[in-house]
Amino acid sequence: MRPAADCTLDDIPEWVAIFGACPACERGEQIYKSRLVRRFGKGALLVQIEKKLRCTKCGGCGANRFALKKIPRD
Ligand SMILES: [Zn+2]
Repeated sequence: MRPAADCTLDDIPEWVAIFGACPACERGEQIYKSRLVRRFGKGALLVQIEKKLRCTKCGGCGANRFALKKIPRD
């Protein structure tokens, strides 16, 4: 897989979960791809969306990062 920063939403397979990580409060929250697609469009680069992320806990923005995790399949 390419580095997350170079991916568009359309590049992320269904079996990969997107997490937003806030360095200020170390909160990690799953972000549903469908919500991001609706807001930014499926061709949006993750690195561009990162800049617009806002932490739902402390309200911090600008330094949040995405993390991609494979969803275990039974
Ligand atoms: Zn935070």
